[in-house]
Amino acid sequence: MTNVNAIITYAEKHCKKHGMCLTTQRKQVLISLAQSKTALTVYKIIALYKQLFNENIAAMSVYRILEFLENEKFIHKLQLTNKYIICTHIATDHDHHKSQFLICSMCDLVKEINFEKSLISKIKQGMKTANFVLSNTQLEIHCICNTCINKIA
Ligand SMILES: [Zn+2]
Ligand SMILES: [Zn+2]
Repeated sequence: MTNVNAIITYAEKHCKKHGMCLTTQRKQVLISLAQSKTALTVYKIIALYKQLFNENIAAMSVYRILEFLENEKFIHKLQLTNKYIICTHIATDHDHHKSQFLICSMCDLVKEINFEKSLISKIKQGMKTANFVLSNTQLEIHCICNTCINKIA
C-alpha cells in the first residue's frame, strides 16, 4: 500500500507537469480516498473530509473534483456501486490500462488487480458464445476476501 505522502507528492508533480493545479480541495479529497481501504460513496467522502479536515465541502464540488481525479487516473469509479477508490498503481510509473476489481461483499474491501490478457480473451470468448460482447474490461467482481472467509470458518 502506497503511503499518503507519496501519493500527494506524485499527484502534485503530475499536475505541475501537465499545467494543472492540485488545489487544496482536490488534494484533501485525494487524501480522504487514500486513507480508505474500501470504496466510498460521495456522501462517505464528504463525511470523511469533514472528519479529517474539519471543513465542509459541497457535494457539487466533490463531484467536480472526483471527475478531475478520475481523468488524471488518480482514482477509479466503481460503476456498479457508484463508489470511488484510489488507484492502487498511483505513484508508480504505470501505463494504466483497465483494471479489474475484487470487492468483498462482507467487509467492502476492494482490491485492484490486472487479469492477464489471455484470461480477458477467454472471458470475451465465453461471452461471444453466449451472444454477448464485452463492452468494458473494467470488471467489478463481488466475492469474499480471505479474512472474511476465515471469520466464517
Ligand atoms: Zn488503477
Ligand atoms: Zn472481506
